[in-house]
Amino acid sequence: MSDGDAQCSRAGCRAPATARIDWRNPRIHSEGRTKTWVACDEHVEYLRDFLSARDFPVRVGALTPAEGSA
Ligand SMILES: [Zn+2]
Repeated sequence: MSDGDAQCSRAGCRAPATARIDWRNPRIHSEGRTKTWVACDEHVEYLRDFLSARDFPVRVGALTPAEGSA
């Protein structure tokens, strides 16, 4: 997996990611441990809703461009 060329985590989507979604499944993840998905503009809401519908803690933020790959 290469940094700096992140693709949307939505299945079948190859758009470049513009947002990151940090989430946690309280049933399988211990306290303080999170998973991170990345999403394009089109799918960030889809993925956030997917997780929040399951009552997972979700936090969405901007995906910062990778350093040194401009
Ligand atoms: Zn997408």
